[in-house]
Amino acid sequence: MDLMEYQAKELFAKHGVPVLPGETVDTAEAARAVAERIGKPVVVKAQVKTGGRGKAGGVKLAATPDEAVEKARGILGLDIKGHIVHKVLVTEASDIETEYYVSFLLDRANRAYLAMCSAEGGMEIEQLAVERPEALARVAVDPVEGVDEKKAREIAEAGKIPADVIDEVTRILVSMWKVFVEEEATLVEINPLCRTPDGRIVALDGKVTLDGNAEFRHEDVFTAYADVVADDDLEGRAKKKGLNYVKLDGQVGIIGNGAGLVMSTLDVVAYAGENHGGVKPANFLDIGGGASAQVMADGLEIILSDPDVRSVFVNVFGGITSCDAVANGIVQALEMLGDKETKPLVVRLDGNNVEEGHRILEEAKHPLVTVVDTMDGAADKAAELANKGA
Ligand code: GDP
Ligand code: MN
Repeated sequence: MDLMEYQAKELFAKHGVPVLPGETVDTAEAARAVAERIGKPVVVKAQVKTGGRGKAGGVKLAATPDEAVEKARGILGLDIKGHIVHKVLVTEASDIETEYYVSFLLDRANRAYLAMCSAEGGMEIEQLAVERPEALARVAVDPVEGVDEKKAREIAEAGKIPADVIDEVTRILVSMWKVFVEEEATLVEINPLCRTPDGRIVALDGKVTLDGNAEFRHEDVFTAYADVVADDDLEGRAKKKGLNYVKLDGQVGIIGNGAGLVMSTLDVVAYAGENHGGVKPANFLDIGGGASAQVMADGLEIILSDPDVRSVFVNVFGGITSCDAVANGIVQALEMLGDKETKPLVVRLDGNNVEEGHRILEEAKHPLVTVVDTMDGAADKAAELANKGA
């Protein structure tokens, strides 16, 4: 689970990583009281789960409480890379002399952890890694030994952190490691770790990803930080219905069973789209094994409420749930949706009891449903229909 900046900073404070005081608000007017309480210039920061907020206009300095309200008004409601801002953090502003970068992450390929550190922080890490790879130190961390003072100092030295602040950065790295291990994170990142003109070090930003597999050991944190999602958010609505849905930026809605089948369906549709005006998959949706009519209806309902979708491709391989059950599910789902179903549906069924599945769909004779036998053929048809519906 990815955390927002203010949540990451709460965990930082709990484990001794220095952060500046602040509070989140969800209306512009509420920013005034927070800025007054802080009593100093503040920064108003969009709380969304994506980086690059600064560049997108989601991070603004405000000298007075009035200005904090004005900046909050400008930031709330912004769309930052597809994430709508519903909350801003109002936090004490800091003077910046230098920006450092520090992180711990899971290094799956090497079955270890990795520390990264640079005295040249501020810009996004991907950019730093490309433009100044020599300035970004990568230090392997043995999962059994972890990070003690000595290891932390080795990391800071590798990152060329200046001698006059290396003790403090070392201390912060040890605290960050506590966040990483005790909260069971797969990523803990600070960018920028700021050095103020008077030589103090403070985390101005924070990114934490908690390991979902460890949720049962951290129910309190997961519950407290669970997504409070707005109704306009397709992914949020899908999540509430227990669907494994990811919004993409194309026009062909996709439903399949099994993550592997759905992934390859995305590829096949993207490929077919090249012959049909460049249409692309609109989403990932895996309805899993026991796809009931209700799950099919929930999935269709989410996909059809995506305004970008112009056709839907249902690609199901009958296994434990056989094709006739899936076909019945589709027919019942269409009945449940009634007039809400207005976009053409291409269905490809294969596997267990496929003939019976086809018979059920043929008998239902739904005017918007086309059955195609092969995956490539169905992808082509769905792409063609999406392109026509433009
Ligand atoms: P990101 O763009 O999503 O990574 O958001 P950050 O929290 O890292 O903020 C972006 C940039 O805004 C930082 O790199 C800083 O340069 C600047 N910034 C953030 N907080 C402050 C602050 O308190 N004072 C000043 N002067 N700049 C800040
Ligand atoms: Mn940042």
